Amino acid sequence: MSSTDVQAELADFATTMIEHSGGIVDWTPDHSAAMVMAPEDLAQSLGQHDEAFRLTREAADNSLTLSLAGEFLDLASRTLKVFIPAVGSFEYPEVALRKSEFASIIEKTFGWQNARCRIGGTHPMKIPYQLWWFHVTLQSEETWEAIVPLSLNSVTGCVVPLENVIDLESLRPAKQVHVDVDIEATLPHVGRQVQEIAMDRAAEFLLRIDSRRQRDQKRLRDYYKAMIDESTKPNRRTKVSLSVEEFQARKNVIQLELMRKLEELDDRYQIAATVRPIALAEVRLPVMGVDCEIQRKAVTRNYRVYYNALLHTMEPLPCCRCSQPSFNFWFENETVNALCVRCQ
Ligand SMILES: [Zn+2]
Repeated sequence: MSSTDVQAELADFATTMIEHSGGIVDWTPDHSAAMVMAPEDLAQSLGQHDEAFRLTREAADNSLTLSLAGEFLDLASRTLKVFIPAVGSFEYPEVALRKSEFASIIEKTFGWQNARCRIGGTHPMKIPYQLWWFHVTLQSEETWEAIVPLSLNSVTGCVVPLENVIDLESLRPAKQVHVDVDIEATLPHVGRQVQEIAMDRAAEFLLRIDSRRQRDQKRLRDYYKAMIDESTKPNRRTKVSLSVEEFQARKNVIQLELMRKLEELDDRYQIAATVRPIALAEVRLPVMGVDCEIQRKAVTRNYRVYYNALLHTMEPLPCCRCSQPSFNFWFENETVNALCVRCQ
């Protein structure tokens, strides 16, 4: 990266940070400096005495200098922590939703295997979703790491692939910032899903580690087999062969040694996985909630399904027993619990 690139990135970064924190940045046409108007607390956090100050490339009075060498990065990290928390709450602007056709979409999407479904009311609403980002490392002979995003519907708990549809630029901070997510309760559930995704993405790495382990195992086995073979032959110098008992004792020692070496090998190739949450944002997204009255024999129960306006699809429902998302359900007699194919 050249120094001009770095300057441009610093300028972009500072502009975004200040504007997201409630300030206004106005660059000169040649982009050599900018005028900033910021609320008092933001200005102070950036080390400024005045609510109006300048962004400059060279140090100057009443200005914030954009440079990697100066105090800019310290001021920026302090400001990011206070004004742009890692746990945030955002809203997505309203998306126009058509009320029609939901009955046929639901019929096409869901399988109600042993029950009858009657479509009830439709409710345009906004519901919370969680966007998580995890840092995953797999440590063995070598290390694999990745940032794994995961999003889920907070109401159903089902994973919904939003990470590629959400245009973060269109998100506005919610008027009342408060995150409803019970982080402690949600983390184990989300963590398991992230592990699965990470294992999938790391498939090539895992395969490579495993084939190396197998290769080393084979080498060890071949080496110790050769040692056993060797001890069946008479001693080169004395020309004396081992007795049957001596040979068996020798063989046992060699085999024990092989087992010990194989265990050591397994330890060396063990994979330690770390899944660390790095950020969580809650977003409220427009959906159409559709009530489905499910009738199983004489009993009925209401389920609400969600049509996601960003994905333009119905979202799955969780299985009442294992919580796995599904579109295909069997219903229990008395409770009308919805069960997935594995639990039915
Ligand atoms: Zn299930």
